[in-house]
Formats: sequence, structure tokens, C-alpha cells
Amino acid sequence: MEIITAIKGFKDILPQETGKWRYIEEMARKIFTDFGFREIRVPILEKTELFQRSIGETTDIVEKEMYTFLDRGGEYLTLRPEATASVIRAYLEHSIHAADPVARLFTIGPMFRRERPQKGRYRQFHQINAELLGLDDPRADTEIILMLIHFLKSVGLADLRLEINSLGCPECRPAFKESLIGLLQDKEEGLCGDCRRRLTTNPLRVFDCKMEQCGTIIAQAPKLLDFICSTCRDHFERVKEFLKDFELSFEVNAGIVRGLDYYSKTTFEVTTEFLGAQNAIAGGGRYDRLVKELGGPDIPGIGFAIGFERLISLLPIKDEDFILTPQLFIAALGTEAQKKAFVLCNRLRTMGLRTEMDYTGKSLKAQMKRAGKLKSRYTLILGDREIVEKKAELRDMQKGTQETLSLDTMEEAIIKTLREG
Ligand code: AMP
Repeated sequence: MEIITAIKGFKDILPQETGKWRYIEEMARKIFTDFGFREIRVPILEKTELFQRSIGETTDIVEKEMYTFLDRGGEYLTLRPEATASVIRAYLEHSIHAADPVARLFTIGPMFRRERPQKGRYRQFHQINAELLGLDDPRADTEIILMLIHFLKSVGLADLRLEINSLGCPECRPAFKESLIGLLQDKEEGLCGDCRRRLTTNPLRVFDCKMEQCGTIIAQAPKLLDFICSTCRDHFERVKEFLKDFELSFEVNAGIVRGLDYYSKTTFEVTTEFLGAQNAIAGGGRYDRLVKELGGPDIPGIGFAIGFERLISLLPIKDEDFILTPQLFIAALGTEAQKKAFVLCNRLRTMGLRTEMDYTGKSLKAQMKRAGKLKSRYTLILGDREIVEKKAELRDMQKGTQETLSLDTMEEAIIKTLREG
């Protein structure tokens, strides 16, 4: 019978990889906590409406990429394509904002988008998200960007490029939109079908188009940055000043428009030249109207998402560096020795010492071979002869030295040796 394989674009994270994943998660938890962020865990499945309302009906994500299904109860549900909407839903649903509108929250977990699978692009992928709610101060923008860069550097990433932009606010968007529509109408013939449709539904989203024919037209498009109002400009200038205070180098890239409708003012992406076309490791921005659009009070917010798989693919660390090998392997031959080994092995485990043994009763040589394969630090050799002579041999697999232990005091001696290193 053929085996059943995983769904296209869905990937297993294998035992040899999880050490690395945990290391990154732990670093994120430590650093984000230092910045005053607290972890929140939100469901993977939400009402479809939540994403339609937040991300926007006419974005690529909502139009083409969501895993949506009609539940048996007759309600449309969606596997979350991103985390911000869920975090804000929880922030409102549990009145976190009523106790204190300023909330620093983070969450780590899988996201689902039905994109074309390719290198660095999956249908289930993972993100580390941070959201800072309740502050419209440019220092909040700076703080969150600083935390992001500090984290990426702390896990070992080098050659990072920070690009920032301002997407303005509802005050300054209309003039820009008008100018953009003007250009697009002139060039309508050259646009792909999707972009022609976007022209009437959501012109800003032409910037997400990956078609070459549209790329050349988009390159001539007006820049939102040239249209922003004095409030947005002042905000942007102050963010830039603060970033300089932290000696964070950045480039202003007016092309960063992000693929979601809810962004306003500051947006940013972190890229590296090693990733090629899919080069953003992280992206984020301010979303000052989102809380209100999700039915809450007028509370501003800013956040980012780091792509876990892309981050992992760039790290200069090896799987092996994160695999915990056994501290002790017990090679036991004969009924009596196996019985003793079984008790000792599991006793040591309950004491927090990584211990392994072999239940198959293979030859001592085969068991020693297995100890080597598992890269055990020490091996305890316990044969029937050793039991009769009331002794055991403890071999240091690194140094190749061996020590004879008395059965009566063996356990304490082993614990001492393993704890010491
Ligand atoms: P976004 O939510 O689209 O701003 O994405 C934030 C980050 O998540 C990106 O910079 C990527 O690193 C990562 N990401 C987004 N989509 C995918 C995907 N399909 N596969 C892997 N990583 C992704």
C-alpha cells in the first residue's frame, strides 16, 4: 500500500530541526519580554468575516489565498492567513483595552495562505508576530523596529537591510489615489486583467502585482510619500530621527506598500540579499484604523511579522548544534543485567539525566555501536559477569578512558559524573 503524504506546500518540521526552532522561539520570548511584550495565543481558525474586514476584501490574500470552508454549522470559517486580526479580536473581545489601552503583545505560530509553493514560500508557514497597541507616538514605531532588528541580529543574522516608508492616512490618501488612477487609466491597455479590475476596486493593490507588464507601469506611478500630509510627514521625520539615535541604518523605499489594506503611516520591511526574489524576512507597519474597523474604540497600533522559515534558512547555525545527545547509554547483556539497567535507566531519566538503553538484547558490541551512533557521552557496561563480580564499567566515550564502579555505589558515582559534565 502506498503511504499518504503531506499536502503540497505543507511541511513537516523534523526532530533534527526542532532544536533550532525552539532556540529561535526562546530568543524571541526572552527579547520581546525584555521590551515589555507579553505572549498571547490565539486560535488558528476564525470567522472568515474577521479577515475580510481587516485585511480587505480586494487584497490578494482574501481574494485568492485563504483556506475558507463552510462549517457543518453553516458558518464560513478560515485558517488564519496572518495574526494581527486575531490578536486585535482577542484584545477587544476580552476587554484588554478597557483595563489599559496600551498593550504589547506577541504570538508565534502557523499561518495559512494558498500561494504557489516555491522555494521559501509555503502554504503553511510560521510567523513571529508582535503588536503594540494604544500608542501613536513615533517612539512606538522606533521601539518596535529596534526590537525587530535587535532580535534578528541576536539570533545571528547579518547583512540586514531595513527599508521604511509612510503610507499616509485617510487625510492624504485621496489625492494620491486620484493621481494613481489617472496614470493607470492612461495605461489601462497595458495592465493585466487583475490590475484592470483593481483600478475600480482597490487601485493601491496594483503595487502587489507580480506581472512584468504591470511592473513597468507601476514604476512610473506617483509615490504616496510625495502626497502625505504634514501630520504624517512630521511623524515619519521623527521616526527617522529616533532610528538614527539608535544608529539603525535604513533606507526610505517608497515602494513598500504591503499587501494588506489596514496599514497607514509607517511601514517597513527587513530584507537580505541572500533571499533573492522572496527577500523579505519580516515586514510590518502602523494600523491606526484597524481596531476601530473591527468594532473597537479609536486605538492606534503598530506591529510586525517575521517569517520563521525564511529566518531559519538564513541562519548560520547547524541542526546538530541543537540536538541533545544522551549523557549515558547503558549497554546490558543477560537477564539480570538488563533488569538492573532498565531500573537504572529510567531512574536516571526521572532525575533529569538523558539516559538510553537497548531493549533488544543484542551483543555488547552491537550495543556499544549504538551508543556511538547516538553520540552518548558515557556508556555503562553491565554484563552478567559484571553482575556476578558486583561491578560495572563506565566508559568516557570522548576520552576513551574507562573506570570500574562497584555495583553498590554505582548510581551515586554515575549521577556525580553526569552532573559534572
Ligand atoms: P506578510 O504577513 O505578508 O507581511 O509576511 C510577513 C513575513 O512572513 C514575510 O516577510 C515572509 O518572511 C513571511 N511569509 C509570508 N508569506 C509566506 C509564505 N507563503 N511562506 C513562507 N513565509 C512567508
